[in-house]
Amino acid sequence: MESSVVEPAAKAKTTTTFDVIVVGAGVMGSSAAYQAAKRGEKTLLLEQYDFLHHRGSSHGESRTIRATYPEDYYTPLVLESYALWRRAESEVGYQVCFKSRQLDMGPAGSKTLRAVISTCRKHSLAFHEMDSRKIRDEFSCRIQIPDNWTAISTEHGGVIKPTKAVGMFQTLAFKNGAVLRDNTEVKDIKRGENGGVLVVAANGEVFRGRKCVVTVGAWTRKLVKAVSGFEIPIQPLETRVCYWRIKEGHKRDYDLVGGGGGKGFPTFASFGDPYVYGTPSLEFPGLIKVAVHNGYTCDPDDRPWGLGAVSMAALKEWIAAMFSGRVDPSGPVKTQLCMYSMTPDEDFVLDFLGGEFGKDVVVGGGFSGHGFKMAPAVGRVLADLALNGVAEGVELDKFRIRRFEGNRKGNVKDFEDQVNHAGFKGLRSSM
Ligand SMILES: Cc1cc2nc3c(=O)[nH]c(=O)nc-3n(C[C@H](O)[C@H](O)[C@H](O)COP(=O)(O)OP(=O)(O)OC[C@H]3O[C@@H](n4cnc5c(N)ncnc54)[C@H](O)[C@@H]3O)c2cc1C
Repeated sequence: MESSVVEPAAKAKTTTTFDVIVVGAGVMGSSAAYQAAKRGEKTLLLEQYDFLHHRGSSHGESRTIRATYPEDYYTPLVLESYALWRRAESEVGYQVCFKSRQLDMGPAGSKTLRAVISTCRKHSLAFHEMDSRKIRDEFSCRIQIPDNWTAISTEHGGVIKPTKAVGMFQTLAFKNGAVLRDNTEVKDIKRGENGGVLVVAANGEVFRGRKCVVTVGAWTRKLVKAVSGFEIPIQPLETRVCYWRIKEGHKRDYDLVGGGGGKGFPTFASFGDPYVYGTPSLEFPGLIKVAVHNGYTCDPDDRPWGLGAVSMAALKEWIAAMFSGRVDPSGPVKTQLCMYSMTPDEDFVLDFLGGEFGKDVVVGGGFSGHGFKMAPAVGRVLADLALNGVAEGVELDKFRIRRFEGNRKGNVKDFEDQVNHAGFKGLRSSM
């Protein structure tokens, strides 16, 4: 196994010019490598650490997929991704994405919730709006909201298994002929003498490519600056996922497929203060994931590993109030750390680097804590940009790399800030 992975890359550095070199093997890079390899392009995927490591953003046991976005330009990417998740699963032969309902809730006047409803209407997504009484009936008291709140339920929720999904894309990339190389940190990207790019590793190896896709998550600002001098305002945050104990007698109530008359518990987002999100009980039986969409600034190369932790008080109160006493709010029984890569408007960056690289280097970054679900479509878009110079089906204008020049906040939005995080104020969000 080792030689089949390492050998081709070792030979390739002197003999091969790759069509595409993808730097960074989180979910976005792995998806882009799969997309490029599947089209028959010679593809190299480089990763600084071990494949499937836990030091970036794509590891762990669950991510939400939902089509209910306040920004209507994400819904097409989510809908495309549902189909592409299914296609990749059928190619690899196992499942990584599990369907559920999605419940979005918040104060009745929440502009975010109104924007979500307007997105559903625009894209003809069926939704069911409920007040607190209807929520109690629909979910058999498993979840309840305050009387002055409202909620909408759609069939477009689900849980993705992140580490398994990244492994799936890497397997499919390899099966389609891509060369995969981990423990190879990229230090620089240069113009090739005869066009194309030279990708320079920290150990001195140089890889030659026609095109390069940079998907380095929380390291995007650092690498792009080192390569081009251009500074993208992408701020890494460390964040904490929390699992809470479901009380005896109620464990099946919160299953993905379990109680409630055969209707499983939904994935959910609560647009109040704080912004709370969660997934049904799946990866750890008897535990439910409920977390706050926040974090504290960090250097990805010098992580605080939990030392910047934010207060749990509001989350405990939320759990005590919303789960009818069926989930123990005294404290999480398991936590995991992870990093977000926040842009000021919490929209992605999907664009050519430009400058001396023109259209030969494409950057995919700034996924701002909500990108995983769209990784299949993002990989398709990045491969399209690199190989064809254009990508259909995506409002690229919203994702321009230079949108912050002369406009520190980027895209203008007409709904509430959702994220509270120490040291990096003024952002709003959607998980
Ligand atoms: C706690 C948490 C919960 C989340 N929940 C959701 C959710 O419910 N739904 C959802 O859609 N999204 C969610 N997200 C967001 C989603 O997980 C991220 O948007 C996504 O994983 C980002 O992937 P990435 O490939 O850009 O980054 P990463 O996974 O960090 O991958 C970047 C890779 O590049 C490598 N790299 C960096 N520099 C170099 C270099 N110089 N040379 C070589 N390799 C390099 C890194 O080691 C890393 O492996 C969540 C994120 C977190 C942290």
